[in-house]
Amino acid sequence: MGEAVTVTGMVLSAMPVGEYDKRLVILTRERGKIAAFARGARRMNSPFLAGSRPFSFGEFTLYEGRSSYTVSSMSISNYFVDLSNDFMGALYGFYFLELAEYYARENVDESQMLKLLYQSFRALLNEHIPDELVKVIYELKTMTVNGEYPQVFSCVQCGNTEGPYVFSAKRGGILCGECREHEGMAMSGAAIYAMQYIISSPIEKLYTFKVSDAVLAELKKAVEQFMSRYIDRNLKSLEILKSMY
Ligand SMILES: [Zn+2]
Repeated sequence: MGEAVTVTGMVLSAMPVGEYDKRLVILTRERGKIAAFARGARRMNSPFLAGSRPFSFGEFTLYEGRSSYTVSSMSISNYFVDLSNDFMGALYGFYFLELAEYYARENVDESQMLKLLYQSFRALLNEHIPDELVKVIYELKTMTVNGEYPQVFSCVQCGNTEGPYVFSAKRGGILCGECREHEGMAMSGAAIYAMQYIISSPIEKLYTFKVSDAVLAELKKAVEQFMSRYIDRNLKSLEILKSMY
């Protein structure tokens, strides 16, 4: 076994392995997405029992093996119990984790993604922010952090910064009246401004605004169209979430 390393991270998923163990996927600040075995984590008296679950956030001390890590200790600072105990909250939460796992890579700096997940879970727990708005903000910011986001600051064809615009997922952003021809969906200035804000603002400031139901509907449609062009896998947790509406 290699040397022990301590990382800060969140458990994205946990799979039972063998009789008593679990294989965790952890999104870490220091090493990106990693797999770690928590030996004996399913025994009732295990010190890893509570922390070896999705949503657990804290410090993990690990031994590095050839292809994966083994947990030697964990110190969990937030289990997000209120989220995992709330039926709809947990559905949103599992979807957020699955989208993070889809994008995250090993050995890259995932500190932004980790911060985004943490803030987004806090926003899901905040009853003043609608879950649907949290979802669309999280999705667009996840794509932004990972470098796959629409151009919404000027017309993708001519660079025109005067609206009104339409949104075209196929063209990767907004088109002005001159360039649109028959493409795209009409988008209000408020919806475009919201997208600009989500893309450009720091993660700490993301969940500080509200929009009308009409603008939320526009945002949802645009982000859904954009994601379906870029994400090449069906996310199971998203299908479950959608089936609830
Ligand atoms: Zn144009």
